[in-house]
This record gives sequence, C-alpha cells and structure tokens, in this order.
Amino acid sequence: MGIIVQKFGGSSVATTEKLEKVCNHITKEFEKGNDVAVIVSAQGKTTDRLITEEKEITNSPCKREHDVLVSVGEQITISKLAMMLNDKGYKAISLTGWQLPIITDDNFGNAKIKSIKSETILDLFEKGYIVVIAGFQGINENGEITTLGRGGSDTTAVAIAASLKADKCDIYTDVDGIFTTDPSKVENAKKIDLISYDEMLELSSLGAKVLHNRCVEIGKKFDIPIVVKETGKENSTGTIVENSKYLENMEISGIAKDDNISRVTVMGLENKIGKTYKVFKLLAEHKINIDTIVQSFGESINKNLSFTIKTSDLAETLKVLEENKEYLTAREIIHFDNLSKVSIVGIGMTNRTGIAAKMFEALYEENINMHLISTSEIKITVLVNQDESDRAVKAIHNKFF
Ligand code: ASP
Repeated sequence: MGIIVQKFGGSSVATTEKLEKVCNHITKEFEKGNDVAVIVSAQGKTTDRLITEEKEITNSPCKREHDVLVSVGEQITISKLAMMLNDKGYKAISLTGWQLPIITDDNFGNAKIKSIKSETILDLFEKGYIVVIAGFQGINENGEITTLGRGGSDTTAVAIAASLKADKCDIYTDVDGIFTTDPSKVENAKKIDLISYDEMLELSSLGAKVLHNRCVEIGKKFDIPIVVKETGKENSTGTIVENSKYLENMEISGIAKDDNISRVTVMGLENKIGKTYKVFKLLAEHKINIDTIVQSFGESINKNLSFTIKTSDLAETLKVLEENKEYLTAREIIHFDNLSKVSIVGIGMTNRTGIAAKMFEALYEENINMHLISTSEIKITVLVNQDESDRAVKAIHNKFF
C-alpha cells in the first residue's frame, strides 16, 4: 500500500470512451489499497482551441487574462472524471490548482511552482477519496490564476508526487514509453526500459516531446521514479525514468530531433575580451533564447561566433545584430535557416571511444552535411538541413541500434 500519482495527457482524456479507460487505470491502483492522486490535462486539443479563440480577440492578450482563459480546459476534465468515478461507486473529488492550492510565482504563462499544500490531498486520502487535480495551473500569492507553460501538466504531476512523497508518478500517454527515437518516423525504434534522469533531461530538451523538461528536473531533485506508459494498455511496464541502476550503460540511449532551427554567425568579431559578452548581452536584453554556441578563430585577430536559435526568433536576432554591427565591431552577420538539430544522448558515451566517429560516419554515408557540431559529456548534437533530418535520424539509428 502506498501513494501513487497518475497523470493522463490530453489525448488520453479526449473523449468519454477514453475517460472510461482512464477510470480503469485509476480504480485498479485504488483497489490494490493505494491512495491515488490523479492529474489531468485538458481534453484533446482544447488548449489549442482556446488559444485560437483568444486570437480572434487579440494578438497581444494581457498575460493574466491569457492564463485565466487557457487554464479552463483542465477544469472540465477534472469534473467529468470525478463524476465518472463517483458513478462507478468510488469516492472521488476534483480540485483546481487554486483550490488545492498550488502556489506559483507571478510569471504568467510560464509560472514556476513554489509550494503545494499536500495536506489537502492527504486529508482527502484519509477520508477515502481519489483526488483528481487539474494539471498545468496554479495561483500566485495575489490569488491570481497562473499556468505553467505548454505541456505543464507533467510538471504538476511530478511536483505533486514529490510533495506527497509518492512511490512513483505514472505518466499515461499515447505511446508506451520512451523510444530510442520517434517511432512514428523510424519503424525499428525500440522502447527503452530504463533511462536516467540526466539522459531524459537531455532528450526532452533536445526535441523528444514525450515529457515536459521541468518534470524530469523535479523527479531528479526529489528522486521520484517517473513511469511513462500507454493509456489503455494492460500490464504495461513502459519506461522508467530514475537514477540508472545499470552497471554498464548502452553506447547511447536515444536520438532526438528538433526542427525549425536557424544558425547565426557573427563573422570577424574583434578578438578582444568582452566582445562575446556584448553579443549575448544584447540578445538577452531582447529576450532571445540562445541554444548551442560555438566560438572559432578563423582569422588571426578576429573570431567567428556561431549560435543557434529557433527560426521564429531569426528576424529579431538579425535586426538586433545588424543595428549593432559597429558597436560589436563585427564584419558580417550571416545565417542559415531550415535546419534541424539531431542529437544522440547516452551516459555510456562518457567512457567509450568512437561514438562521435560512428555518428559522423552514418551522416557521411548518407551524404549529409553538418552545419555545426556541439557536445556535452552525454550528448553530441549536429545541425543538418531540415529536409535531410529524417534521413539523418534513420541512418544514425541504424548505426547504433
Ligand atoms: N493543456 C495544456 C497544454 O495543452 C497542459 C498540458 O496538457 O500539459 O499545453
């Protein structure tokens, strides 16, 4: 007997029939004698629809009102699910983020959780309730509704699991776990049984869209095993995200891809202390999110600085840099767009040789050019043309798996 947190994503709760399957997963755990807290997303594409409706009114909504609107979807799901469970003879109660409450900071649209009043849930457990909680939302200290960012229900779930010191947090979705790469694109993609928090963090931030990055950080910090599995599938073991228990790791765990990337290069930047800092300070002042950075010394007294950004930020980035070319003492700003980031991730690469060579060989054999390479201890990322990226992932996958 323990405490189990279950989270069901938008596609798992999209219809009444699907909610029936969700009830089965919940009651199965409850019947085993566990206390169960359930976190749900909005049904299907409800949040997207709310954003479309918002755009009919304004393109620049007040952030506070935006959160009031987009948090609505989850409230519909919790009430329906609690009703359904009640109808089946179970005691279930729904709670919104503000009723619990989940206290966040004031950063509307991307709020961070500060605290959760877990006693509310524990009291309800004591009274025999299954507690159904709205994901993605909270309340700031002024009593205003906030949301945690798109896909934020995963973060709500793992944060609640941490606050309840739950045994695990099951994240139910439409795929049966984490795969070595996107199974809809690469048919021989394999399900991973166990993956470490660090590998999962890299994979989710590099474009694997299965888990919200912040939920993995919370899982790691509070040592909560996160189990990703498919809704409706009986006895699935899914993928467990936790501290790696393998003595030896595979060469790599998975391959991720992120599209719509641009590379910007500031050429001929004076090779003096502070020049690089000035470039990034300017971009930070314009709230431009920078990803990979590579600095190279192409010429003796000058340096070239390349970095990647989301293509949606390209126009703004080029404008800022062009306007400040003289101030930065840069000779030229060049860019490439329609690029994808393809990354391999694995703890195993820390103590093996030849991993990079193997990845680059796969690309060479496919005649695919790399526009940039960057590495960390457990990942290697390359930039390739977007129209070659699916082929790149397949070739790399075949090489390693
Ligand atoms: N409903 C929100 C979204 O679509 C939050 C979530 O599903 O996790 O982003």
